[in-house]
Amino acid sequence: MNQTPFDLQGRVAVVTGGNAGIGAAVAGALAAAGCDVAIWGRDQERNRDCARRLAEHGRAVLPVACDVSDELQVERAMSRTVEELGRPDVCVANAGTAARRHPSQEYPLDEWHRVMGINLDGCFLTLRAAARRMVEGGAGGSLVAISSAAALQGMPGSPPYAAAKAAVLSLVRSLAVEFARHGIRANAVLPGWIDTDMIGDVVHGQDSRAQATREAVLRRIPARRWGRPEDIGGAVVYLASDAAAYHTGDTLVVDGGYTVF
Ligand code: NDP
Repeated sequence: MNQTPFDLQGRVAVVTGGNAGIGAAVAGALAAAGCDVAIWGRDQERNRDCARRLAEHGRAVLPVACDVSDELQVERAMSRTVEELGRPDVCVANAGTAARRHPSQEYPLDEWHRVMGINLDGCFLTLRAAARRMVEGGAGGSLVAISSAAALQGMPGSPPYAAAKAAVLSLVRSLAVEFARHGIRANAVLPGWIDTDMIGDVVHGQDSRAQATREAVLRRIPARRWGRPEDIGGAVVYLASDAAAYHTGDTLVVDGGYTVF
């Protein structure tokens, strides 16, 4: 059988927030490339539904209930994944939440902490747990964090979201340097506007404000369309694969040209 450098046959991947949106597409792309995949998310019913859908790829898909902002739950989820599938070769820290919008001078600290807890602490806890297992295994691996184009631009009215996503870029660079000697790479993907539930009110909202926002955003996307979750799946498969063997500590922007316009 001819193997491409993108072939991931026999590898094990973890995808947090793998039961919906971008995470489900990433999990599907990794399974299609040959990975056994653990899908972590808080809602185990949704994890199971997604695992059933992904069974078509003929790989093992393990649903794991986990809130990534909770250290103990992350450690347990990783142990369960290792027991059932083996040590991860690929770990995608994708789970994330939008932030409630408030003017920054009034931004509530509890919402700041909630968003940081999922989008930054959750990313750190997940990648830390995976890196430990990769170091123990001695076979290297690929860590991928799903950041956001907002990391480059800021997000007026949602400061913790953009701050967490920017911090993730720095986290990935630290991990890349620290773990390079173990053959572990770390990179971030920065999606632009991707059509998922997270931005459903902008993409599908019917009121006049949503329509005006939609038109304004679309005018700023040179590709003239919303991103699809699958657009991110391909980028992650590349970073997970041997095609990216020399690619580490970097950011891959997948936004239809939004941030260069
Ligand atoms: P969705 O809202 O569609 O999905 C979010 C996923 O994250 C769900 O699977 C959810 O599962 C999971 N999740 C949320 N909180 C937690 C938690 N505490 N622990 C574990 N899992 C959690 O979002 P998207 O698919 O759009 O977003 C995925 C990632 O991409 C996020 O990090 C987001 O910030 C980023 N992104 C998205 C963009 C977009 O335009 N859509 C643009 C740029 C970045 P459950 O509720 O079961 O826990």
